[in-house]
Formats: sequence, C-alpha cells, structure tokens
Amino acid sequence: LYVPTSQVVHRLQTQLEQGWEEKITWTDSEGIAHHDTVFQASLLAQLQAETVEPRATTSSENKNANKAGSKAPGNTEALHLHEECVTALKEARSTLQRATGLNTPSLGAQVAHLEAYVLDSCSATTEEQILNDIRSDLSSKVRSARIVLGYDMPKVALPDTPCDRCGGVLIVAKDASSDVVCVGPEGAASCGKRYRRKEWVSLLEKITSRISTEAACTYTGRSVPTLYRWAAEGRVGRRVDPRTGRSTWDPSELPRAVPGQPPPLAPSLPTARTPADTAEQG
Ligand SMILES: [Zn+2]
Repeated sequence: LYVPTSQVVHRLQTQLEQGWEEKITWTDSEGIAHHDTVFQASLLAQLQAETVEPRATTSSENKNANKAGSKAPGNTEALHLHEECVTALKEARSTLQRATGLNTPSLGAQVAHLEAYVLDSCSATTEEQILNDIRSDLSSKVRSARIVLGYDMPKVALPDTPCDRCGGVLIVAKDASSDVVCVGPEGAASCGKRYRRKEWVSLLEKITSRISTEAACTYTGRSVPTLYRWAAEGRVGRRVDPRTGRSTWDPSELPRAVPGQPPPLAPSLPTARTPADTAEQG
C-alpha cells in the first residue's frame, strides 16, 4: 500500500504540532481488550509538560511538596527530544521553502508540490532525496517521542480507580511510562481528563507490572543516576525490556516519595554484603 509522502509528512506534523485522535486499545482486569479514541495534545506540548516542575497542589499542607519536587530531576530525555523535534521541523520547513519557493506553514502542502515535480521530472534525484530525508527524519522524531511518552506500550485499566470527573475508566501504559488518561464510562466518550505522570504518583502503586525509569524517578523523587547506582549496588532490581531496550523497575522494591518530606533514603543493601558495604550514601 503506497502512501504519498505528503500524507505521511502531514500526519507527522499534525502529531508534533497540533494534536490528533489516537485509537487506543487497552485491557481490563480480566484481560478483555477494549478500543477507544482519545484526543491527544501535540507531542511538542506533551514533551514540554514532561520537562516542567509539578504544579502546586491546592492543599496548603502540600506547599512544601514543591520544594521536595524541585529536587527531583526534570526529564532531560524529553527536554532534548523536544529540542530535536523543533529543530527537525524548522529544518524541514526551510529546506522545503528553498526547494519549492512556497511559503506555507503546511509541510504536507510543500511536500505535495515537490512530489508532483518529482513525478513529472525524469531526473529529480535531489528532490527525491529531500523528500526521503524529511520523511525519515520526522518519522524517527515522532517514533522517539511516542516511546518516551509511553504511547507504544500496551495499555491497561487502573483497577478500582474511576475517573474523578466522570466515573469513567482510567488507563495507563503497562510500565507506567504514559500519562493516565480517561477513556470514559463504557459506551460513552472520554471526558478528556488526563493526569500527568507527576500528578499521579500514588496511582503508580496500582500498577503491578514493572515500571519505566521515568515513572520510577517520579515515584521515588530520586534521579536516574541514583536509581542506576541502587541497582548496581544490588538494592533494587533493574531489568532491560528486550522489546524496547529500556530499563524497567519493580515499584514494590522502590521507596515512595512523600510530599513535603526529604527524598526517601536508599533501600537497604542485600544481606549477603559485608557490613563495610552498608554505608548509606543517601
Ligand atoms: Zn473522565
């Protein structure tokens, strides 16, 4: 099935800049698959949201929570990817403008123009190369963003936790690497409620499978290097998902951050270690 590059590029630009309707398949606690369509904000906006500090909560007793939260690492992977996506779009735009002389914000329209030229021309290898480069560059950025944001993980329903706005079902990536999203009550549309990863630390405890590194940082309030050091010291288990090549963590082994309190201490060393090894590094 041939899909014109203009359509592909249009779709990629829409995902990056405007937002789109994502078809989501998720499984309930009995393992039954369900399908829903949920509007997603642009990937750039979602990556941006990953890099900012958690918002202040309305409760006054949680005022100190942000102090503790500010010590938590920003998601540098999301930050870098955000920059790379912005650069890729900018480069695609200027390259296409040079090649077509068109000045439209729609990359798809510019690509369509260039595609028509390539079809009409006997020797348009430069233009063909431009189209291939833009298509593969934007594709790889969108693919990376989807992985970082947990889109391509299987989705599961949170047990016993209905949406507080509409009573609908809340779903999340199996490894907790995505936002928690409402898909609405059965047979009804989503109310659009979305919990950013940083807002739903307590919900992580309902995830029974292994969670992503980002989710583990959110859960513990500790940095990626700290988690890796704990794993190297045998305090917690780190496994690499063979499908994605990314590390996963067991939430039951991790200490949970408490709002308003200093970040939790490292879990204890395995008992086989000698006492000299047990000095707490914090
Ligand atoms: Zn809802």
